[in-house]
Amino acid sequence: MASAAPSTETDDEPTEETALETARRQLERAAEHLDVDPGVIERLRHPNQVHRVSVPLERDDGSTAVYTGYRAQHDSVRGPYKGGLRFHPDVTEDECIGLSMWMTWKCAVMDIPFGGGKGGIVVNPKDLSTDEKERLTRRFAEELRPFIGPTKDIPAPDMGTDAQTMAWFMDAYSMQEGETQAGVVTGKPPVVGGSKGRDTAPGRSVAIIAREAIDYHGWDIEDTTVAVQGFGSVGAPAARLLDDYGATVVAVSDVNGAIYDPDGLDTHDVPTHEEEPEAVMKYDAPQKLSNEELLELDVDVLIPAAIGNVLTAENANDVQASLIVEGANGPTTSAAGEVFEQRDIPVVPDILANAGGVTVSYFEWLQDLNHRSWSLERVHDELESEMLSAWDAVREQVEENDVTWRDAAYMVALKRVAAAHEHRGLWP
Ligand code: NAD
Repeated sequence: MASAAPSTETDDEPTEETALETARRQLERAAEHLDVDPGVIERLRHPNQVHRVSVPLERDDGSTAVYTGYRAQHDSVRGPYKGGLRFHPDVTEDECIGLSMWMTWKCAVMDIPFGGGKGGIVVNPKDLSTDEKERLTRRFAEELRPFIGPTKDIPAPDMGTDAQTMAWFMDAYSMQEGETQAGVVTGKPPVVGGSKGRDTAPGRSVAIIAREAIDYHGWDIEDTTVAVQGFGSVGAPAARLLDDYGATVVAVSDVNGAIYDPDGLDTHDVPTHEEEPEAVMKYDAPQKLSNEELLELDVDVLIPAAIGNVLTAENANDVQASLIVEGANGPTTSAAGEVFEQRDIPVVPDILANAGGVTVSYFEWLQDLNHRSWSLERVHDELESEMLSAWDAVREQVEENDVTWRDAAYMVALKRVAAAHEHRGLWP
């Protein structure tokens, strides 16, 4: 007999998969197609280490608050751990573990010699003054200092943290080590060892991958229409570069809604999130739409580049795009992914498309270790070449196994990580 007890979860309201569940499911899916030692898969289901620290902070009013911080380190078989640090009230240990696994695959699909890490502090940064954020960041750096370092684990900015946070983190770490160690974090301001081109790199990689996918499907980019959800660090450079490549970007959006011009928008004229936050709707365009309507526009390419879980079982059948390139992390739920597979709509996954960010972080780390900065032109050239290599590897996997682009990307990544494990072995 059905219970009358109130419940927030019912059978017809599917519960959202956690980041860890998604990461494990994707690992198992990729493993099904490959001949990989089950012992290696079992090892990859678990993080190598998870560090949990208490971070005490003296508030501006003189009181003391204690926050919880995490650093999950999934796998380092191919090199030091790499991944963001977020300051967000919803940070959990499991989320850090799941996201650290994603970073392992993202680095491996790009063939970057890093493993996956992710961490953060359970805090709403909007509740802190700038001075409080600085003290919290410096103390977090000190609590994590035994576990991180330029050859061990290299954090980066994520939700609620930015280039300034990374500069404080690097400074605190370096002061305790007795020497400047710029390579301990990436995403720093260029004056303290950051890389040129880091800010726009995830959007640039989305555009490069979209361009390759357009070409792969035999379309002429000059005749291709594109809609981009989100006009921030990822969406804006992606839209502008595709515009420069010759595509017609008919719609872009921010949190308030979308602008639409069937003849194409002048994307360089629409203010990005950084230039003027949430100003897309102020732009004079023939039509204003909702974000939901943007996702269902009849375009060739749809680029969700704002937030996760926007393509769901509810709207997947209404999507009219012929190709989806994921700019945001996790914009497609697994249920929507199944619908797109049945409908033959290719979805090029986040771990490939937006991996320009971690790739230029790798360039930043190389520049720091070598004490030599690269020109913007060199960053762009090397990013282009890394993205094309990764695209080719994933395309070959798609062609060889007739699998989805997502499965192919995970297969490429898993093959590389598993081969490294098999060569290094399990000791003792
Ligand atoms: P951002 O804050 O710079 O921009 C986000 C954009 O999305 C803004 O235009 C904002 O108005 C819009 N937006 C916010 N909420 C929305 C909603 N509910 N509906 C529609 N639009 C909304 O963020 P970003 O750095 O561009 O990140 C976007 C996504 O890309 C996230 O999923 C992020 O995890 C992922 N990502 C970012 C990077 C990076 O280095 N910045 C790298 C890889 C992946």
